[in-house]
This record gives sequence, C-alpha cells and structure tokens, in this order.
Amino acid sequence: MRYNGRYEKSKRVTKIKTNDRKYASGSATIAQGDTIVHCAIHCTDTTNQFNQKPYELRFLISSAGREQEVLEQQAKNKIFLEQVLSATLLATEASTSGKKIFVEVVVEQDDGSCLAVATNALYLALQQTVDCLAMEMQDHQVIRLDQAFGSAKIAFLSREIPLVDPDRQEEKMAIFEATLALNEAGDYLAFQFDNKNQAFGIDEINGVLITGTTCVQEEIQELKANLYTPYTQKDGEKAIVIATNNEGKAREFSALFGKNGYQIKTLKDFPALPEVEETGTTFAQNACLKAETIANILQVPVLADDSGLKVDALGGLPGVYSARFAGVDKNDAANNAKLLYELTDVPDEKRTAQFHCTLALAAPKKETLLVEAEWEGRIGRIPRGENGFGYDPLFVVDLDGTTAAELTAKEKNERSHRAKAIVKLEKNWLDWLEGAKE
Ligand code: IMP
Repeated sequence: MRYNGRYEKSKRVTKIKTNDRKYASGSATIAQGDTIVHCAIHCTDTTNQFNQKPYELRFLISSAGREQEVLEQQAKNKIFLEQVLSATLLATEASTSGKKIFVEVVVEQDDGSCLAVATNALYLALQQTVDCLAMEMQDHQVIRLDQAFGSAKIAFLSREIPLVDPDRQEEKMAIFEATLALNEAGDYLAFQFDNKNQAFGIDEINGVLITGTTCVQEEIQELKANLYTPYTQKDGEKAIVIATNNEGKAREFSALFGKNGYQIKTLKDFPALPEVEETGTTFAQNACLKAETIANILQVPVLADDSGLKVDALGGLPGVYSARFAGVDKNDAANNAKLLYELTDVPDEKRTAQFHCTLALAAPKKETLLVEAEWEGRIGRIPRGENGFGYDPLFVVDLDGTTAAELTAKEKNERSHRAKAIVKLEKNWLDWLEGAKE
C-alpha cells in the first residue's frame, strides 16, 4: 500500500471532460487526482506549403513558484508530445495546402504524472479535431490519426516495485521514473525517463515496459469511452437515432419507427457527439452530412432532417440559410423582418413560397435513403398567429389568408412539409433498412 492509500497499480480518481471549449475544434480537460491538464486544438488554413509539419504545439506548465524547474520540464515534455504527434498524425497530400492544427496543452496544476495526463488529453482533443476536419472536408480527410493512443507514468520508490501514476510527493521520493506513450496496436510513440542521477537496472526498465504497457492499453480504452461511444445494441434490440435535440421532432418520428419495434434515441442520449455544421448548399447535402457522420460514429441507423423556406421571388432564398437569414445570432423575429423587407415591392401574386423538408436515413455501409417534400403557400404582409415557430406567422396556407401559425399543432402536423416527407419515408424505410420482406 502506498502512502496515499493506493495500490501499486491503481491510478488516482480521474475526471474527464471532452469538448469543453466553445471555439476549439477539439478540447479536453483531465483532472487526475489534483493534476489538471487542459488541451485545446484550433484549425486554420495554412498558406505555407510543402515540408511543413501539419501541427504547431504550445505546451505550458503553470509554474506555481517553481519557475526554473518548470522551464526545464516544459522543454523536455514538449519534445515528448511532439514525438507523439508526429508518430500518430498522418498528413495526407492535401494537408500541404490545407489545414494546420494549433495544439495548446496547459498543465493547470501539476501534482505529478502531468506529462502522461497531458498526452491523454492530447489524444482526446486530437480525435475530436480529426473527426471535425473529416466532416468539414466530407470525404477528403486532410489529417488522419493513425491509431488511438494513451500514456502512463511509472515510478520506482524502491528497486522492485513499479508504482502507477505517481503524485508529486511520490515523484520526489522516486529513484527512477518513466513516462511512456503507446498506440492501440502496442507500438511505442515516445519514452521519457529520469534516473534521478543514479544507475539503474534492467528490472526498472522491464517494470516500466510491462506495467506501463498494460496500463496504457487500459487507459486508451477509458479515453475512447469518453469520446463518442458507438451505441451497442443489446441482442434483438433495434434502434434508430434521430439527429435532433428537438423533442417535438423526435416525437413525430418515434410514432413512425416505434410501430416496427425500433427504439428511438436522440442527440440528447449522446452528449459528447461533435456538432455537425450545416456546410452544404442544398437541403439534401446538409441532411446527408448530419445523418452519415453520426451513423458512422455511432454505427447505427440515423435519421436527419433539413428544412427551410424557399421564396420564388428571391430565387429560392432563404433556403438552406433559413435559420440564419438575418445573421447567425439572430432570431425568428429578425428573420421574418428581413423577409418582409426583401419582399416589400413584390406584388401578392408573386409572393409564392414553399416550406421544404428533406429527410436522410443513413446506416453504416448503406447508401443513404433520401425523401423530400414541400408545402405550398404565400408570404403574407403582416405576421399573424401565435402557434408554430420560424416563418409560420408569414406563411399563408389558405385562400382566406390563414397562416401556418394560426393552425393548431395537429392541423399543421397533417399538412406540413415534414408530415408529407414522413408519409413518403413511411412507404420505403423498412424495406430499405431490413430488406424486402415476403
Ligand atoms: P431546421 O431544418 O430545423 O434546421 O430548420 C431550418 C429553419 O427553417 C428554421 O430555423 C426555420 O426558420 C425554418 N423552418 C423549417 N421548418 C419550418 C416550419 O415548419 N415552420 C416555420 N419555419 C420553418
């Protein structure tokens, strides 16, 4: 038993937060005992071409009164992290003219084993970044990760017994210590040791390799579990994930799939999933991007929708930009005000419009099923009605001037673009997913 009550091979209680920075493409904070490390990664377009590393690394240890010691440690540890990065990041040809990633690792508090914890935080942030880039570039991955990786530190306080995850107190007492990083296949990526100015034997080396290697493999599995967990279906269970946080939408779809014994999950069930940005220029591209990305990560069927308003006099705008017509941080009222302004001089007979809905059902190793439907209407001159959302108060659906916002939820659900698309999907999703039944 160690002074802190731990067994030789047990590490400190670890708390992991992933995706915890708003503007980073990948981020993670790991608190392992009182050691706290944060890693954030940002991507930029690079103009530098050829023979450039695809990354830039900044590594900082908060000094807390140990400036000199920290400076030396910082320089040594940076080399280790760079070895890990260059051994795992595969830059494809495109990356020479593509993206560069800026990695920032900050040891906010060092209570021992901070390099191992930093490497683990780096893995989490890097994996999210690679997924994020893959989504942005769709099929053209610019930077790929060879394998999942992880790290552990081992210290010897006496010659025979290797201790896992030493804290600062144990590091001070150690006669030999080493940090190692491995990938999932068991290949070594980086190795750093400190012999504390004493000769050391083969037992220490063996101890580090044997104990360290097992520890890192366990660590990698734990890290991966903190990323996006593929959804494992129990025997006989069938599930479909609806790519929405909106419970109303999820309810509409659960009726459809529930009838055939499918359990419905939503994005709320997978909080660590990265947000898929709608970078497409068509409804179909956006719906596919969302459905396929999440289906690939979770390895289950995923349904995604993309919808919006198409106004004929505006050449189909706002279209895929419906949610952000007046600007990214604007609301429904601002969107409606902009729409009215754009149509000020357009006479009634030319104010025709459609609400459009595309549904994409994606499943691993299958070509995505797409259905689309539209709801015809006109754009009114003053907002009317309290129900619904978005452009409903301006969307006139009947000759008497009734708007979608004046319909009850039930009436809208019988007539809307989404309702029509669901009817179309109902006809063919089961055959598509399970194959034709006799
Ligand atoms: P999304 O498909 O949920 O991203 O919706 C995109 C945007 O289209 C929404 O923010 C609304 O502005 C608009 N929109 C889509 N469906 C409707 C609807 O049924 N009523 C009103 N606005 C809608």
